[in-house]
Amino acid sequence: MSRRPRVFVTRRLPGPCFERLLREFDAEVWPEWREPPYEVLLEKARQVDALVTLLTDRVDCRVIEEGARNRLRIIAQYAVGFDNIDVECATRHGVYVTNTPGVLTEAVADLTWALILAAARRIVEADRYVRSGEWYRGGTAWHPELMLGMELSGKVLGIIGFGRIGRAVARRARGFNMKVIYYDIVRAPEEVERELGARYVDLETLLREADIVSIHVPLTPETRHMIGERELRMMKRTAILVNTARGAVVDTEALVRALKEGWIAAAALDVFEEEPLPPDHPLTKLPNVVLAPHIGSATRETRERMACAVLENLLAFRDGREPPNLVNRDVVKVRPPGFEGP
Ligand code: NAD
Repeated sequence: MSRRPRVFVTRRLPGPCFERLLREFDAEVWPEWREPPYEVLLEKARQVDALVTLLTDRVDCRVIEEGARNRLRIIAQYAVGFDNIDVECATRHGVYVTNTPGVLTEAVADLTWALILAAARRIVEADRYVRSGEWYRGGTAWHPELMLGMELSGKVLGIIGFGRIGRAVARRARGFNMKVIYYDIVRAPEEVERELGARYVDLETLLREADIVSIHVPLTPETRHMIGERELRMMKRTAILVNTARGAVVDTEALVRALKEGWIAAAALDVFEEEPLPPDHPLTKLPNVVLAPHIGSATRETRERMACAVLENLLAFRDGREPPNLVNRDVVKVRPPGFEGP
C-alpha cells in the first residue's frame, strides 16, 4: 500500500517506540488524560485502518462492525488483558486483535509482592499512624503489640492462574521462604513445578490451605466472580486476598462483607469491578484493605516496552506478517494480514 495506514491511538504512550509509531503511520493521538468518549471511538473506527486501544476503551461489536465495514483491520491493545474487546466479533469480521504479553510480567509480579508485603505488615496503616500523629500522641516509641502483622516465612502462597504473571510471583516466593500451591485450568509442566517448587491443587484446597491467595487469571465469562461468598468463606480467617488481575474476578460485595465480618483478615487490590473506585466506596472505609489505582504494569521501563510491542504488532501486520502477539489466531482463516490498498 502506498499511503501510510491511518491509526487512531486512544492515549499518548511513553517512549521511543511510540515516536517511531508516529513516523511509520498516519497517526492521530487522543490528546486527553481520559479515554475518548464512546461516540468518538466509534467515529474513529469508521475512519482508520488500525486502532491502538487501552483497557478503558469499550471496543464492542458495534465499533468493530462499523470499522470493519470500512477499513479497520487491526486493534492493537496496549495491555495483556483484552476483556474490553469483543474478540469473537473481531474474528468474525476479519479484524486482528493483538496484546502486549510478557513485557509487563515482572512489573506486575513486583507490584503483587508490594501488595502482599503491604497487607501482611500493615504498611499503609502504619504510614497513616505516623503521619496522623497517633504514634507521637501514644507517648512511647515501641510496644510489643503495636501493629502486629503476619510473618511470611513458612506460610503458604496460593496462586490462582499459573501463567506468566502467576509464575513470576511464585519465583519471588522462594526468597521469602514460602510454600507455593497453585490452581489453573491447565496444569504446568513438571519441570516448571519443580523449578518453582509449586504444587498443583484444586481451587477448594488452595482456598482452604493458603495464607495468601493471589489472583492471576484473565477476566473471562468463566472467571467472572470466581471468588464469591462461598470461596471467601473457605479461606482461613487469617488469610489475605490479593488481586492484581481484574476486579470482576472477585464479587466485591461478598469481599466487603468478608473483610467487615472477619471471614478473612485483609485484602490488597490493584483492580476493581468499578474503576476508578469512587472515594465513598465501602472498600475505602475498611482499615484492613490496601488499595492501588490499577498500576500493576506502571513502571517506565514496562510501559515503554508495551509501546514497542504495539509497534511490532502493527509493523508485522503492515508487512503482511502475522503479528507476534495475535490474540485471535482464527482470524487468519478469514483474512490474511495486511492493510487495504489506497
Ligand atoms: P497468562 O495468559 O500468561 O496467564 C493466565 C493463566 O490463567 C493461564 O495459565 C490460564 O490457563 C489461566 N486461566 C484462564 N482461565 C482460567 C480459569 N477459568 N481457571 C483457572 N485458571 C485459568 O496471562 P498473564 O500475562 O499472566 O496475565 C494474567 C492477567 O493479569 C491478565 O489477563 C490481566 O487481566 C491481568 N493483568 C493485570 C495488570 C494490572 O495492571 N493489574 C497488568 C497486567 C495483567
